[in-house]
Amino acid sequence: MQDCLFCKIVKKEIPAQIVSEDENILVFRDVNPQAPVHLLLIPKKHISSLLELQDDDADLAGKIQLTAARMAREMGLAKTGFRLVCNCGRDSGQLVFHIHYHLLAGRAMNWPPG
Ligand code: AMP
Repeated sequence: MQDCLFCKIVKKEIPAQIVSEDENILVFRDVNPQAPVHLLLIPKKHISSLLELQDDDADLAGKIQLTAARMAREMGLAKTGFRLVCNCGRDSGQLVFHIHYHLLAGRAMNWPPG
């Protein structure tokens, strides 16, 4: 999508600290980290939010979760744990309307979230 920030990162029109990339999924560091480890996992395909996921995207959505688990293992986070967050819509605080999952780790998290 032309005016989408994360599509521009996918197309390498905007720089990002990419930590993993395959045919369908890109993982990069959040520019404003909220924890010692703060990654964003996105599909390369533009999907604006969780509400726009289609049945055809089930494999992609599953692979994003598997990628999160792989990243956590590779970064040594499996033992201490991590949080995977997908904000959806106004009340969640979603700011970028290209579906993304925050992988947060490296400190104890609060519950309930603010
Ligand atoms: P959300 O509030 O769930 O939409 O989160 C959007 C996230 O994107 C925020 O945590 C931002 O810090 C992050 N972000 C915005 N622009 C960039 C960028 N150019 N590179 C990396 N992360 C970004």
